[in-house]
Amino acid sequence: MNNIIVAKFGGSSLADSNQFNKVKSIALANEKRRYIVPSAPGKRYKEDHKITDLLYLCHAHVEQNIPFGDVFSVIENRFLELVEELDVTIDIKEYLKEIKTNIAQGASADYTASRGEYLNGLILANFLKYEFVDPVEIIFFNEKGIFDEERTQRAVSKKLLKIDKAVIPGFYGSMPNGDVRTFSRGGSDVTGSIIARGVNADLYENWTDVSGFLMADPRIVENPKNIKNITYRELRELSYMGATVLHEEAIFPVRKASIPINIKNTNSPDDEGTYIINDLSPASYAGSITGVAGKKDFTIITIEKSMMNIEQGYCRRILSVLEDNNVSFEHIPSGVDTVSLVIAQSQLDGKLERILKEIEIKCKPDSIDVHPDIALVAVVGIGMLRTIGISAKIFEALAKEDINVTMISQGSSEINIIVGVENSNFENAVRAIYNAFSK
Ligand code: ASP
Repeated sequence: MNNIIVAKFGGSSLADSNQFNKVKSIALANEKRRYIVPSAPGKRYKEDHKITDLLYLCHAHVEQNIPFGDVFSVIENRFLELVEELDVTIDIKEYLKEIKTNIAQGASADYTASRGEYLNGLILANFLKYEFVDPVEIIFFNEKGIFDEERTQRAVSKKLLKIDKAVIPGFYGSMPNGDVRTFSRGGSDVTGSIIARGVNADLYENWTDVSGFLMADPRIVENPKNIKNITYRELRELSYMGATVLHEEAIFPVRKASIPINIKNTNSPDDEGTYIINDLSPASYAGSITGVAGKKDFTIITIEKSMMNIEQGYCRRILSVLEDNNVSFEHIPSGVDTVSLVIAQSQLDGKLERILKEIEIKCKPDSIDVHPDIALVAVVGIGMLRTIGISAKIFEALAKEDINVTMISQGSSEINIIVGVENSNFENAVRAIYNAFSK
């Protein structure tokens, strides 16, 4: 315990001065919140623009030799308004002028995009009276643009532990030559996690506009229950299947140090949110599931060949066809004489015929069967581990709804069961499974 919380605030939490005020009360409400990581201002309402999107747009204009002044003035106005309403002492016009000049002179896309976080960080630091630390000084990428974990960690702890309270903009760091380099979109989550690891925080709070993860997608299930605790592993499974609140890569740094992540709601700070916890934590909810998520639009290619099981290299030949065509697969459930390839339909666009032909030639199967428009539904939970009856409950729920299951795959980790159903049954399947376990 070293009494440190790292708090990352997402774009919607810092979209206008009203949101900034909420962030201030949250930050100052707990002495332990020593390091704050902001995103760039996000949308204030549904049709609004995210500052990062506008910055990328400016860069694209310059690349195409089209004047970008109009787009840039939208950005300028957002920041001018913020500074005015928050009454901070920052010469924002000067910063904006310099950034505009750099963009006009052909600054990189990464530099341009990162300025949303940079300016928001300056404003927030001034507003909270925290020190501003530019991440180019402590977050490093190597010559290939790959995140340099070791060097970063050393720099983060050395620099930050000497500072009582600091604001560190999210989303970017620097290359060995000093150039700005960003993480992929949504990367401020990753910065927060890196900072939390570097200062060995007790907790990484990720403040957003929802009160944590829900057991199912609220667009499909009415009022799904909140998930109180979820392990890093379960979260990986659920986010892979489409349940996104957090950047996928944000889990890795804190996971190594077993630092829990708490997803919290800036607009409802008293809600407990969701805790993402150590994989080794004992499950207090044996017999239940943590969540259900899924994705539509897969194609299953089933290849049959008698005595496949004793033919060496058969699967390798099948998979080499996918590799030659630059196609990746999601699952490969197999039987004695059959193997199925579950592939996202978007991967197969314009390639399916060729792939089938090449499999015919290379693998000489007895038959190939193509089943398009399949949805995958993943039921995830460490509560399933060594618990009897979970799959019975899942399949009973589906049978009751008259839903045919076209594929079943249980990950070897035994914390997920994936079923394939027709696209048209997807929503019903998610609802049926959720209802079976939510009571
Ligand atoms: N502002 C960046 C983006 O929109 C990073 C972030 O918000 O996490 O992708």
